[in-house]
Amino acid sequence: MSRTAVFFHAHPDDEALLTAGTMAMLAAQGHRVVLVVATAGERGQADLAPGEELGEARMTEVYKSAALLGCARVVRLGYADSGLSSAGGIADDRPANAFIDCDTEEAAQRLAGLLKEESADLLTIYDPAGGYGHPDHVQVHRVGRRAAEIAGTGIVLEATVNRDPLLKALRLAGRFYRFPPEFDPRTFERAYSPDELITHRVNVRRHIRQKRASMAAHATQATGADVRTLGVFLKIPAPLYRLVFGTEWYVRRDLPLGTRLKHPFDPAPPPGTDPGPDQR
Ligand SMILES: [Zn+2]
Repeated sequence: MSRTAVFFHAHPDDEALLTAGTMAMLAAQGHRVVLVVATAGERGQADLAPGEELGEARMTEVYKSAALLGCARVVRLGYADSGLSSAGGIADDRPANAFIDCDTEEAAQRLAGLLKEESADLLTIYDPAGGYGHPDHVQVHRVGRRAAEIAGTGIVLEATVNRDPLLKALRLAGRFYRFPPEFDPRTFERAYSPDELITHRVNVRRHIRQKRASMAAHATQATGADVRTLGVFLKIPAPLYRLVFGTEWYVRRDLPLGTRLKHPFDPAPPPGTDPGPDQR
């Protein structure tokens, strides 16, 4: 049976890192996949000056990425990218329509309207800390959780990264590729999720080329002289890339700790079921 999954992201390129493989897999399995971006990411780092022009360039990239992944629809909520302060926190020079300043209830109603229109079975958001802590990502959690509540969306998955293998891969890659001095793999030590909190491990290795192409589609975020996380990830050699990015991870909070599922649409195990070592 074909079902509908809505992937809610803060900026163009977030889908590439976190959920591209799952999106490609679900689309290939005949499900309807919808990508929603809260902002155009117009305050990201790039060779283009931040602003409208960068926003348009990044939207063009996200349409390309979505097409590569088999998305049926891309929706732009139209908030302004809140940006980051130089210390990585909330920026003081935010534009008027910054996503973090929006009325969360109003934004949630808008997203809920889309979830109802699409009869969405599943919504992906981020964890309450917003993965690595970007304020717009924290806002995706708040708005997304509330929207699912209003629309009665059955499955809410928090897209995350299992930081244990990511740190290992970055350390390994660091042996034969010299990261730019500004890129510090240790910044990932407290980001995202430790293994034990993760409820879904989705094997996306069959769609790894599409995922890599989706990352590469975000050229403004993957090239240039400054540090670009995507650019660094694309330098990870293919076998290692497949190992690290061949799995995507989610936390479904209504399931007990220790639950281990393999597919976003897997039914919740009956209460009291011991996940057992063979399921791990
Ligand atoms: Zn982002």
